[in-house]
Amino acid sequence: MTVRLEGAPVAEAIDRASRDAVESGRGRGRPSLVSVHRGVDSPFRFYLRRQAKAAEALGIAFRDEPLGAGEGPAELVARVRSLDRSPDVHGVLLEHPLPDPFDFLRTIEELRPEKDVDGVGPRNLGRLVAQRPVHVPAVARAAVDIAQHYRLPISGERVAVVGRSETVGLPLALLLARREADGNATVTIAHSKTPHLERALVDARTIFSCVGHPGLLDRSVVPQGAHVIDVGVSSVPDPTRPGKVRPVGDADPESLEGWAGSLTPVPGGVGPVTVAELMAATVRAWRLLGEGNPSR
Ligand code: NAP
Repeated sequence: MTVRLEGAPVAEAIDRASRDAVESGRGRGRPSLVSVHRGVDSPFRFYLRRQAKAAEALGIAFRDEPLGAGEGPAELVARVRSLDRSPDVHGVLLEHPLPDPFDFLRTIEELRPEKDVDGVGPRNLGRLVAQRPVHVPAVARAAVDIAQHYRLPISGERVAVVGRSETVGLPLALLLARREADGNATVTIAHSKTPHLERALVDARTIFSCVGHPGLLDRSVVPQGAHVIDVGVSSVPDPTRPGKVRPVGDADPESLEGWAGSLTPVPGGVGPVTVAELMAATVRAWRLLGEGNPSR
């Protein structure tokens, strides 16, 4: 039987620590998080409700700031710069990827590393390479946390990351390879130019899939008994609700049932842990900024 690795218990443990930290720092007010996005046209808006709900449950002040109709790249940069300077704001989430002519990297560079709570700005990514991260990309941290919680084979083992984007696959591969108790893996990185995916994965004991390609991982590419952390999320038509979509991962759960050692579900696997990580990073930013610990 293939074990289902639920995200909920992992997210609950992270949330417990966040709630305790907010509670014990009460005398200093409370952490605040701002989400900046393109408004109603943005796919990002689907995440807002989850973020708002999670923040409220933890005592984090949350507000979203959609861009107005006439606002372009320069206004977005100015807005993020102003949030970076605001002492009342501890974390900022910036929608990504952003379409042309917006420049995600140029915009997020306005944030000091503490306020880039999703850890996706170049300064936080550079710090990850230098082994001194302030925040690491929340989704990458979430995938590693699930692996740790369920004691999957990582340290000293061969693992594979499928996908090499700067905000998901690459930072995850770096986390898994670094000299830490939750790292020390020998990491294969596969991507769209990898010929014969099954050969790249043949020795992997744990596979992290970060692609966004439903059905990519089935028993023809996953070695028998391997563990699969499914980071990918895609929307497909929901056969039970005409005209609606539902989220699915990269793995084909039916094909992997009874074949993979374990598998995270989509939804309910990496997603809720990622939200918990974003909130934990906001609480950390609040503490660091309150201690007058600016990193620049
Ligand atoms: P992305 O920028 O589109 O990157 C996708 C990666 O997959 C690329 O590196 C691409 O290779 C690789 N790829 C594409 N087709 C492939 C194939 N057939 N075989 C092997 N590799 C292939 O996406 P992203 O931003 O990294 O996000 C990846 C997935 O994670 C998406 O589904 C996204 O929705 C999901 N996600 C989930 C969460 C969560 O909380 N669960 C958070 C963030 C993202 P190339 O580099 O060669 O193009």
